[in-house]
Amino acid sequence: MPCNERCTEEMSEMQARTRRQHITELLRNRPSIHPTAISDALDDVGIQLTVDEVIEEVEEIRKSLNGDETLYIAPAECRSCGFDNWNNLVNIPSRCPNKDCRSEWIEEPYFKIE
Ligand SMILES: [Zn+2]
Repeated sequence: MPCNERCTEEMSEMQARTRRQHITELLRNRPSIHPTAISDALDDVGIQLTVDEVIEEVEEIRKSLNGDETLYIAPAECRSCGFDNWNNLVNIPSRCPNKDCRSEWIEEPYFKIE
């Protein structure tokens, strides 16, 4: 039977749930993990997500955690000047905001759920 519109919708919902579960498990099981490593680990199980999409999922997961667990974040850090006081911690900054630096050499944030 061909997949109708509704079924396609259900499938993509199911896939969204599955990949969110995968990411949540990675966040729980690794000591800490950065978005590129999450993207790579998902690739190993046949889920293709860009690093930006991983970040969006992590943000959604953070909102959906109940009181028993917390998403801990080691903020991104500028490798040139050490800046790490970002407004949005669940993000990969492209450039250092320090006006004397402006480096694009940024270490990704690390996440874990505990
Ligand atoms: Zn900097």
